[in-house]
Amino acid sequence: MDIGFIIDGSPEAAIDGGTFERRDPMTGEVATRAAAAGLADVAKVVAAASAAFPAWSETGPGLRRSLLLKAADLLEGRSADFTRTMLEETGATAPWAGFNVHLGAGILREAAALTTQITGDVIPSDKPDVLALAIRQPVGVVLGMAPWNAPVILGVRAIAAALACGNTVILRSSELCPATHHLIGQLLNEAGFPKGVVNVIANAPADAPAIVEALIAHPAVKRINFTGSTKVGKIIAMLAAEHLKPVLLELGGKAPLIVLDDADLDQAVAAAAFGAFLNQGQICMSTERLIVDAAVADAFVGKLAAKASSLPAGDPRGHVVLGSMIDVAAAETMDGLIADAVAQGAVVVAGGKRHGSIMDATVLDHVTPAMRIYREESFGPVKPVIRVRGIDEAVRIANDTEYGLSAAVFGQDVRRALAVARRIESGICHVNGPTVADEPQMPFGGVKSSGYGRFGGKAVIEAFTELRWITIEGPQSYPF
Ligand code: NAD
Repeated sequence: MDIGFIIDGSPEAAIDGGTFERRDPMTGEVATRAAAAGLADVAKVVAAASAAFPAWSETGPGLRRSLLLKAADLLEGRSADFTRTMLEETGATAPWAGFNVHLGAGILREAAALTTQITGDVIPSDKPDVLALAIRQPVGVVLGMAPWNAPVILGVRAIAAALACGNTVILRSSELCPATHHLIGQLLNEAGFPKGVVNVIANAPADAPAIVEALIAHPAVKRINFTGSTKVGKIIAMLAAEHLKPVLLELGGKAPLIVLDDADLDQAVAAAAFGAFLNQGQICMSTERLIVDAAVADAFVGKLAAKASSLPAGDPRGHVVLGSMIDVAAAETMDGLIADAVAQGAVVVAGGKRHGSIMDATVLDHVTPAMRIYREESFGPVKPVIRVRGIDEAVRIANDTEYGLSAAVFGQDVRRALAVARRIESGICHVNGPTVADEPQMPFGGVKSSGYGRFGGKAVIEAFTELRWITIEGPQSYPF
């Protein structure tokens, strides 16, 4: 598929004619040839988004809501296109693509609902005859940058609430799924958003530092959101700081799932397998550490190993649970993590084998802090079990990470499990549920190296509006 940018409502080639390719990780065939931005394209896209802002920011909630709802319907109607494109660009399975479309539509509908929730306050003033207001106003052009792993969910999330708040947007697509992100921009424009309100631009991988810096530095870009790795998130945060621009960062994770000694083991295993292996473990909330009380560890590991061994991995065009990883290099990283752990005493109790970009669901038992897999985000289907004695050690290990996005605790004494959940340093924690969960109305985001700011629900309004103090004053007396 050949794709351009979407600027001012129209498909556009790069000014210098530049393109880049994305190959299907399974077949090696070219999946997409996409326009590659240069600095002149950055100026052009920001000019379009800027020019559209004054009129769009003046629209009422009724129009914004109806366009967002229309876009949600169009998104669902194009499920087959999204599934094919995601499969070709990322190696994802059809159920994962279907879930992306389903949740993407939900995010648009929640953004539609948000349009009447962007409220302010009337604040008592000590001055006589004064009406003091705190009101929220649109900020201007919002830059969203989303990754490939849940491309519809995260691409939509990067722009939907910003639009609901009355901003114009530029989606800088992932180099690994430019056509999937392009489709999002296309259907929003089809839904009837005025020209220039929704723009999409892409860059060749090697040009990312220059293009991203130019976008962030442009004076008309007022807010930035980035979903991706902690390493790049820190670069984005530094660039934003240089220009004193607020940024919302949704970064990596190393989610713990704690199994207490009174856990319902069948439920814990089912949730662990779902959270660990969905989309080949390539989700920021993926269960990355299974922290299991020694009293139940043998039983838990036996059941989880059996479950993991039963999950078919292979060509995403077939009937599999695990499809392709994003590329062979990512899958090769799994080999290194397994070899390092095994050399230091870990035991492979399920999986361990790789065929090109396909990695089997793998469980490593008896993992210790000395092993890479204990600390590094695998972002793949290789999962460590760490055996602990009691609640305090479980909490200590759960918090022994730079990350803090999602977490889970399994225990049938719910008050005890909740007490554990409260002690975990993460933005999200589920008692007796998997680490992987998202609903558009929930506050979503992390602490520590998982980033800052919240998408989802009313919390996101903070990210995409300016809170202003406005007064209307009667005649006042002055000291001089
Ligand atoms: P990545 O950070 O490696 O790449 C993201 C983007 O960064 C790329 O598109 C690239 O263009 C850009 N980039 C690279 N170098 C740059 C530079 N020097 N300056 C500016 N931009 C640069 O991440 P990824 O591989 O696309 O995504 C995987 C990561 O995303 C994982 O760590 C995962 O946990 C995280 N993630 C987080 C969430 C969340 O909501 N918290 C959701 C999904 C994924």
